[in-house]
Amino acid sequence: MITTCKISSDDEKTEQQIVSDIFDNNSGKNDLFFWFGTPINPQPKVKSIAKFTSKNVGILVNGAEIIFKPKIREKIEKKGLKNFLEINSNVMMDSGGFIFQKKQGISIKVEDLIKLYNKASPDYAVVLDHPLDPTATYSKNYYRQKKTLDNLEKMLQANLDTTLIPVVHGHSFRKIINYSKKILEIYKDYTNSYPKWIGLGSMVPLLKYSKGSKNIPTHSKDKRLNAPMFVFAATALVKKLFPKSKLHVFGIGGTTTMNLIYGAGADSVDSVGWRLKAAHGAIQLPGLSDRFLFPRKNKSRKVLEEEHEEEFLKCECGVNPHTRENLDKSFNLRALHNAYVYLNEFERIKNMLPFTSDKLEQLKTYLKTSPLRKYIPFIIELNNGYFKNYNLSDIIQDYYLENEDINKIN
Ligand SMILES: [Zn+2]
Repeated sequence: MITTCKISSDDEKTEQQIVSDIFDNNSGKNDLFFWFGTPINPQPKVKSIAKFTSKNVGILVNGAEIIFKPKIREKIEKKGLKNFLEINSNVMMDSGGFIFQKKQGISIKVEDLIKLYNKASPDYAVVLDHPLDPTATYSKNYYRQKKTLDNLEKMLQANLDTTLIPVVHGHSFRKIINYSKKILEIYKDYTNSYPKWIGLGSMVPLLKYSKGSKNIPTHSKDKRLNAPMFVFAATALVKKLFPKSKLHVFGIGGTTTMNLIYGAGADSVDSVGWRLKAAHGAIQLPGLSDRFLFPRKNKSRKVLEEEHEEEFLKCECGVNPHTRENLDKSFNLRALHNAYVYLNEFERIKNMLPFTSDKLEQLKTYLKTSPLRKYIPFIIELNNGYFKNYNLSDIIQDYYLENEDINKIN
């Protein structure tokens, strides 16, 4: 059962004070993080990208995948996750909630995941969450939300020796705000503090299904937001709701998308794109989406243009010789190269933040090849606390303080 405690009057903080905290604390941009998403036992081996990792650039693995591979699990539980992966960088372990979404009937128990987290000792561990599906019924998504909050309580009770990351899910501002409120209440109840990290999940399907223009039912005051805009606004909103927490937005850290997600207020993103693009035979270059090295039959993806040849040749990813032929014939080399490009893109964006109006032209040039660059003005607005004449603080105020049935996540 989800704890239904309201913050009682004898507590030092009233709801109104929590809302004031949200608006008073302006922590600004601190350290950013990026995570290379990877299978647990991949080719190329995780250690081959160790040189690209650091305190702020880590590895993201999936707990559910490990649970479904008992032999690998045994090794990890014996020697610890980092020894298994042969790396020293930070490792985040996701619960793998999105697997439940893809495959019906598969489930893992929160108790089992707690056991794994305890033995594997990742630096960051994600709450067992059940992401939403924009195509599912209201009651199915309601059940998913309720289960996720229930799991959060169990994981807090377990007092894990890792940084736990609760995850906000919601496809409307109202849901995101009510969900956030519940997470804050649960933290208040169990730890009397704020979560150090907060995740924003369920955003991947919105970008996947959006095709750029289809409206989604945001239930917000403004129904004109398309799916990408909603994702950016949701990022800005959650950052405002959890100003003291690092915000990780799950699954949408592609080389161009990451710029806009960081721009909207995320402190941390992850991507498996470096491997996926390589698997499709493609490589990436900074500011450029994926390209084939040679023309391929029946494939519409662009081939790396002559004008980018010099940039391609002087890439310092360490692949030697750095030729089209060499990368074209090896998935491993393409993946290494792409990982390096992600790292560069991550380093590049840090200098461009925050997205302010005086940087508009600079940002447009910076993202010149991305179709997402049309959203830069929207993100600048979000950074100023509003969009299309709606104030983010007002939206939070309206939903946060509304007289709702606390048992009902709506
Ligand atoms: Zn390279």
